[in-house]
Amino acid sequence: MVKELVENAIDAGSTQIKIEIKHGGIKLIRVVDNGSGIPQDEVALAFKRHATSKVRDSSDLENISTLGFRGEALPSIAAVSHVDIITKTDDDSTGTHLVLHAGEITGQGRGAGTRGTSVNVENLFQNVPARLKFLKTVSTEGAHISEIVTQFSLAYPEIKFELTADGKVVLQTPGNGRLRDVVVAIYGLKTADAMIEVGDNNLQVSGFVSPPSLARSRRDSLSFFVNRRWVKSGLLTRATEEAYSGMLMTGKHPIAVLNISIPLGDVDVNVHPAKTEVRFRSEGEVFTMVQRAVRAALVGESSVPDSQRAPRPFGFSTSETGVDQIVLQERLFKEPTHVQTPQSPRALPESKLPILRIIGQLASTYIIAEGPDGMYLIDQHAAHERILFEKVMAQRAKCDVEVQGMLEPATIELSPRQSSMLDRAQETLKAYGFAIEPFGGQTYLVRTAPALLGEGDITKAVHEVIDACAEEGDRSKAGEKIAASIACHGAVRAGKILTMDEMERLVRDIENVESPHTCPHGRPTMVHFNTSHLEREFGRKL
Ligand code: ADP
Ligand code: MG
Repeated sequence: MVKELVENAIDAGSTQIKIEIKHGGIKLIRVVDNGSGIPQDEVALAFKRHATSKVRDSSDLENISTLGFRGEALPSIAAVSHVDIITKTDDDSTGTHLVLHAGEITGQGRGAGTRGTSVNVENLFQNVPARLKFLKTVSTEGAHISEIVTQFSLAYPEIKFELTADGKVVLQTPGNGRLRDVVVAIYGLKTADAMIEVGDNNLQVSGFVSPPSLARSRRDSLSFFVNRRWVKSGLLTRATEEAYSGMLMTGKHPIAVLNISIPLGDVDVNVHPAKTEVRFRSEGEVFTMVQRAVRAALVGESSVPDSQRAPRPFGFSTSETGVDQIVLQERLFKEPTHVQTPQSPRALPESKLPILRIIGQLASTYIIAEGPDGMYLIDQHAAHERILFEKVMAQRAKCDVEVQGMLEPATIELSPRQSSMLDRAQETLKAYGFAIEPFGGQTYLVRTAPALLGEGDITKAVHEVIDACAEEGDRSKAGEKIAASIACHGAVRAGKILTMDEMERLVRDIENVESPHTCPHGRPTMVHFNTSHLEREFGRKL
């Protein structure tokens, strides 16, 4: 109900929409807008079935740009509740007031003098006990309504939304047209501040996505819109998550607010009456477009986690706002420049690291290095994992995975499930450099392994690779898991003492990878203590 009423308010060109609910909307739903209003002589008609002012002829149906078009919402709402509507257009000198009970007009009169429409829906389903029973608990209904208003507010940053539930304001957006400010209202300042802007050249995909470090453990923070209409779409979810591949830990999901603009004819929003489902004419194209746009945004930014954001280890406190200001300023300067100058050989992409000078090793686990702007602590295992991961992926892409033969083949045991998988996985295993043959029972011989696995644990790697083939129907996903597993077992362990040369090699390699800041599981590979942070810590600068 709330959805339909808000849609009407948006279709009417409102710039302010207030929604008030009581008792999860069961007692009261009130939607007040400042839109066009309904002309006096059309108010009663608007409650008749299939009366819509929005579609003139059937050719209009192909190019629906309004949210409503069926002329069903008002009559269906009125049929199951007590409705009280006051509306006024610019042309009418006074407003119109109409009262309906169970769909029948029970009162009519003059209304207030301000432009816009206010619809009161009371005692929902009271005259339809069977449906009343179907309403979920008050809190579930309330949560559902607040999700709907949230999505509308993300789709329409230029409209000022306010949602009040049982007298408490639950959501309020400024309506200033800036999507980031709506994100602030929903996810908070910190999150909004860290979100990365997405926008391809012709703005077919636009909005914000979270940096990998902000991922959530539930997939409930993905909002998609097609031509600003909120949709739920497995395709768009997959395209977005795919863009994060190699950046997110398993089980983690990004936050995203993305609008896809495509010609009305290329999309069918009419699949389901609730209209949150969508069907694209060319799914592959949409998938690629979204994945590319998100990936480009992520690769352009993916900044080193800033040590300033970590809890302060010392009792030294700088005022919160002071820190935020500085972080904000740095962010301004770091803003990815979309106009790159590929002619100049020194112009490195934003995500790449500066040249680092190695100072030493800490706790046999971290490499301490100095860059042009302060100190870097690099996790040797995570960094090496990232390097190997990209190498495996690159070798695989060229169908040229380097293998190492075993002087003596390694014997491994597979579980019955794994051995039954082996047949299907054999080809993939081979492509990644594993040659495995049966040796009787559950025992198998590994004759070759990928060279990048080095002296890493072959048994574990083979188990993981077979499991990845079993779990992932999707080839490219399985490929990534396999690469991550080879990288994990091939990478230098934490706790290993490294020589200066070994550290040098590792740091040169990490300077040159595509995404140096996170390991394939999404953990950071390094922490950056920038110069001004150090100066502040030592009280040299406030
Ligand atoms: P639809 O939106 O599919 O046209 P509805 O039953 O939702 O059908 O609304 C019927 C008609 O009432 C709309 O076509 C519109 O002309 C008018 N209307 C409804 N709500 C509003 C509103 N908030 N502001 C202006 N006009 C409205
Ligand atoms: Mg409508």
